[in-house]
Amino acid sequence: MSKEMKSIEEGDTVCIVGGGPGGAGCAISLLQESRAIGKPIKVVIFEHKKFSEHRHYNQCIGVLSPPLEDILKDEFDLVIPDDLILSEIEGYCLHSDRLDLNLIGEETGRSVSVKRSKFDASMLEEAKKAGATIVHNRVTGIEINPEDVMVYSEGDNYKGAVVVGAFGLDDGSCRVFEQGTSYRQPDFLNTIITRLSPGQEFIKGMESTIHAFLLSHPGLEFGAVTPKGDHIAINIAGRNVSSKVMLEFLRSEPVQRFLPPHQQREKPLNYFKGKFPIAPARNLFGDRYVTIGDAAGLMRPFKGKGINSAINTGIYAARSIMRHGVSKKSFSENFYKDCWELTQDLPYGRCVRVLTNLATDLKFMDHMIAVAGTDKVFMKAMFNCVSGHLAYKRIICETASLPLVINFAARIVSHFILRQKATLPV
Ligand SMILES: Cc1cc2nc3c(=O)[nH]c(=O)nc-3n(C[C@H](O)[C@H](O)[C@H](O)COP(=O)(O)OP(=O)(O)OC[C@H]3O[C@@H](n4cnc5c(N)ncnc54)[C@H](O)[C@@H]3O)c2cc1C
Repeated sequence: MSKEMKSIEEGDTVCIVGGGPGGAGCAISLLQESRAIGKPIKVVIFEHKKFSEHRHYNQCIGVLSPPLEDILKDEFDLVIPDDLILSEIEGYCLHSDRLDLNLIGEETGRSVSVKRSKFDASMLEEAKKAGATIVHNRVTGIEINPEDVMVYSEGDNYKGAVVVGAFGLDDGSCRVFEQGTSYRQPDFLNTIITRLSPGQEFIKGMESTIHAFLLSHPGLEFGAVTPKGDHIAINIAGRNVSSKVMLEFLRSEPVQRFLPPHQQREKPLNYFKGKFPIAPARNLFGDRYVTIGDAAGLMRPFKGKGINSAINTGIYAARSIMRHGVSKKSFSENFYKDCWELTQDLPYGRCVRVLTNLATDLKFMDHMIAVAGTDKVFMKAMFNCVSGHLAYKRIICETASLPLVINFAARIVSHFILRQKATLPV
């Protein structure tokens, strides 16, 4: 390792691009670490949005799920302020083309819905209280040199010892990092969100249940309808989702049952487009740079718990920087190793995603729900996939059994025989 890259020195600056949960969590953790080892440093967060103005719609449903409250308490001694919480999520209901099932299982902790901009504003405020400098400018370029990094923004430029990429899947910022480093942005699904305000009475009737939809609709991987206190958030995800796919989703029979009657008259809706990483970025760290959260693509497919992953990876990056240095080798040996819970589960998550897509494409999801309705073990697996409560590896290991395989094999055979018969001329 070169002498210059040995470790963080007293008075060094750490630049963080993006002040979402990942960037804010990383900043708080860096400053905690620096105090603990008695090495004062400067932490600068570049965040071009002013969350407290609530002018930007965040591409997120805003469900904070376990163990987020424990992470905030244990790592930062923070609690989610009561006035941030819109509602508590009480359950999940899974829908296929023709069936639906209330999923039964246990979560260790509560899930709550919040307004994302308020949550992000409160996290950024905590980072500021911890001592971080917030620069409300967009980063436009980075330069990695052997002895330092240079971060260019629409306002002031900053020199630092290391740069943390916490910019989510922002296209422009991905390009800035791709130009300045060997980082390559993660593979992703497109998402569209819309919201409805059908009135308190209607929302109460939804009983704080998240409705997840796995429908056999071309272009759609999954969708969800989430009650959020005073409104309902509706999101869909897929490689090529569009406003047209959203309209078809809203018009589909399983979804119509959860929309207020006036929605059936197609009132114009506001749509917001976003992205959801489904694989890790390539070269997600290197000499003097490391990416975290969505930018790194380190999260679960489906119920991603992206906020949890962003904060956790931010903490791992901060520890790695403060305790071990800023070289590629040290990020590999420390930061990336700490992310093992996410990285070791990636192949299993991919496998579940492929199987789910196959089941929806082949119109087999009704059978999966029917089996979950009678088989407790499979019900638990469905609950854990949708709630994101357990790692996919554990879900697969706890669920796979010979009787279940035989059950599905028989259903697959009869499903295809029936489909074949349906296509034969009469
Ligand atoms: C449709 C949808 C629904 C979701 N629902 C949930 C959910 O209910 N619960 C959950 O846990 N996760 C959810 N997620 C995932 C979650 O939103 C992300 O995983 C999480 O926000 C990642 O945090 P982050 O800090 O890595 O990035 P972000 O939250 O994206 O933050 C990045 C920040 O960087 C700033 N930024 C970007 N580029 C620059 C630049 N050049 N200069 C300055 N600032 C910059 C942006 O303004 C932004 O504030 C959802 C995602 C989608 C797409």
